[in-house]
Amino acid sequence: MSRFWSAVTHGLTPYVPGEQPKIENLVKLNTNEHPYGPSPRVLEAIREATSDTLRLYPDPNADRLKAALAARYGVRPEQVFVGNGSDEVLAHAFQGLLKHELPLWMPDISYSFYPVYCGLYGVESRVVPLTESLQIDPTDYLPDGERRAGAIIFPNPNAPTGSALPLEAIERVVAGNPNAVVLIDEAYVDFGGESAIALVDRYPNLLVCQTFSKSRSLAGLRVGFAIGHADLIAGLERVKNSFNSYPLDRLALAGAEASVEDDAYFLESCRKVIATREALVVRMQALGFEVLPSAANFIFARHPQRDGAELAAALRQRAIIVRHFKAPRIDQFLRITIGTDAQCEMLVSALGEILGA
Ligand SMILES: *Cc1c(COP(=O)(O)O)cnc(C)c1O
Repeated sequence: MSRFWSAVTHGLTPYVPGEQPKIENLVKLNTNEHPYGPSPRVLEAIREATSDTLRLYPDPNADRLKAALAARYGVRPEQVFVGNGSDEVLAHAFQGLLKHELPLWMPDISYSFYPVYCGLYGVESRVVPLTESLQIDPTDYLPDGERRAGAIIFPNPNAPTGSALPLEAIERVVAGNPNAVVLIDEAYVDFGGESAIALVDRYPNLLVCQTFSKSRSLAGLRVGFAIGHADLIAGLERVKNSFNSYPLDRLALAGAEASVEDDAYFLESCRKVIATREALVVRMQALGFEVLPSAANFIFARHPQRDGAELAAALRQRAIIVRHFKAPRIDQFLRITIGTDAQCEMLVSALGEILGA
């Protein structure tokens, strides 16, 4: 607290990121990072960009990266926006596209940054509960008599549950709300979801957001992007150019471009994570855990006889870190990032010991 803070600063409730502990030999399964490093071609491109040219500003419009993403996803470059992590892309969307007189609809259990941005930008929201089985019901996002959404946001696959909706369900929500922007946050889509990018040419109110942090193994580089109708993208550009003209530095641009160009490496490393996830689900169920169906690089699981917070604490004593949320409805669950096969083996054997004790 300080008398020098503005009223806005006093009123903020900031996001709390997952821990990045400085402990060695930690099995770190708490922030959904990729267990395998980025493509060697990405590292080579970053090395090459580490040169005398760093004295020059980067391309403010990220033209080459946008062209690469447009080609990869079958859209035009004017339909692509890039930012310093998808968190920044989301922030600009909250301010520039999701803030209206009618409230923004979002799930009660979802990415916890959304309510933070509502607080920062003064966006009214309406919280829509997940179903009993912790799923998003698309029907809950359709206009109900007089009640309409000003805009809608949810992740698909959802976080922290990992559950994915099929493309038809997304289309029902987008088509059912023609006067509201629907933002689908696809941070985890490459691990088994269906991307709504396939719909952007038919729905001018659809914005799809993705990140290089999870499936492209580049959380440390901070690159995210959005794809949608050119008018939505132009709105984001207006906000971005009123905030920071150079959100992506030269190294980030070089690395991100190389990543998009090495699709084979990226697809293969995601495939490995999916295979490890499927094996881990079976092992967890054998230990008595209830595991929600996951299309992400994490699972969401609870043990019917053991307290979630206690399990997380017992794992931590064995240098294994998972995420536990002290939030209503989910405080018995653990969100566990899919690591390497060896890390998952250590997790399962630690849980076996803890449960046996
Ligand atoms: C990780 C995550 C993001 C943010 O990713 P960046 O690292 O900022 O690109 C956005 N949405 C969801 C649902 C996430 O889990």
